[in-house]
Amino acid sequence: MRRSPRARRWRLEVPWGEPARLTVPRSMSRVEVERLLREKRFWIEEQRRRQLPRLGLESLGVSESAARIAARELVSALAEEEAGQLGVVYRRIRIGGQRTLWGSCSPRGTLSFNWRLVLAPAEVLDYVVVHELCHLRVPNHSRSFWGLVEARRPHWRKQRDWLLEHGPELLAFKASE
Ligand SMILES: [Zn+2]
Repeated sequence: MRRSPRARRWRLEVPWGEPARLTVPRSMSRVEVERLLREKRFWIEEQRRRQLPRLGLESLGVSESAARIAARELVSALAEEEAGQLGVVYRRIRIGGQRTLWGSCSPRGTLSFNWRLVLAPAEVLDYVVVHELCHLRVPNHSRSFWGLVEARRPHWRKQRDWLLEHGPELLAFKASE
């Protein structure tokens, strides 16, 4: 539990593989905090029940450095091909390891991707790369953006759903080295 001078209301997170975190405004009394925790106990347990490893990642013995190299190769090849199809130009590709993000696209044309994507099904990695490249044409998530994604990958929803279902487990994955 953490008190934050900036928090305007409480926030409860149950990250995969980590203790639950409660952030409350400084003004919240101890009694209120305790009541909140009592109320949310079942919700926390429910979140935990959903966090069953299903991807079998632990048994793969993945090394992070090898996975980063593989991710860079796969992403670069895909981005090069797809950028040509979309008629967009990117500046560079960055492979990162944020625990919250699959990909991003800076206004200056740097595309960033999470190395853990290399552990997802190939179509999922493909979708994330295409998604970020589409942002070079449409920087937001407007209707025209999704129209563009759909034109390039008609089955993108399936990949998005995979990320919604398995993404938290994959993002929490820590490699052996
Ligand atoms: Zn996006």
